[in-house]
Amino acid sequence: MTARPYVLGDVTYKATKDARYDLAVLPWGATEAHNLHLPYATDTIETDRIAAESARIAWDQGARVLVLPTVPFGVQTGQLDVPFCINLNPSTQLQILRDVVDTLARQKLAKLVILNGHGGNDFRTMIRELLPIVPMFICNVNWYQVVDATSYFTDLGDHAGEMETSVTMHLAPDLVLPLSQAGPGKARAYRFQAFQEGWAWSPRRWTQVTKDTGVGDPALATAEKGRRYLEDVTRKIAAFLVELARADLNDLYR
Ligand SMILES: [Zn+2]
Repeated sequence: MTARPYVLGDVTYKATKDARYDLAVLPWGATEAHNLHLPYATDTIETDRIAAESARIAWDQGARVLVLPTVPFGVQTGQLDVPFCINLNPSTQLQILRDVVDTLARQKLAKLVILNGHGGNDFRTMIRELLPIVPMFICNVNWYQVVDATSYFTDLGDHAGEMETSVTMHLAPDLVLPLSQAGPGKARAYRFQAFQEGWAWSPRRWTQVTKDTGVGDPALATAEKGRRYLEDVTRKIAAFLVELARADLNDLYR
């Protein structure tokens, strides 16, 4: 494997010591059960690979972007009773993010994109708290919201369903068990209309919602669907990275 100049974990100090990077990408995943057929590292693998591919496209267009190592733990407070779903509380995440941001700010990095791959992670309040105290522009991108999934997939379940299974079949086929071994990903919804309509919210208690930890039926997943979806997701993220890399932080509004 040749070292990718846009991935920090691949390069040496020789590359970084005199370099100027426009922005860094911090991929943030999770370690959690994904139905019976996808690995615990699913979110981490997806996010790591999407970050690197988006950065590659942006780099080829002249943006000096650097992908930081992917954080493998996310918020799992609704899955504490599922073996090896490893929880970082949001307040712990904030501490980690604060330390990473503080370090990068001292080194004069001006822009940071958090690339999030796990629905339980919510960096928006953390960014609100950090922005007034660090001289850095920080934004969050949830890669699973970048394009409209309905154009690619039939079942829109949000955890280990058709989308994530297709994506993982494309990225790490050796780690996906045959779909015949997957559970149906049948999930129970809240009783309240307010929750269905989305204006009331509380995190789900996972083991009461689903028997196999999946939310969404993976039956129609294919690697080709995953490839097509990811191609569009990474192209769109890359275009944003290029735009942000070139942006004047004093002129962000039209
Ligand atoms: Zn996932």
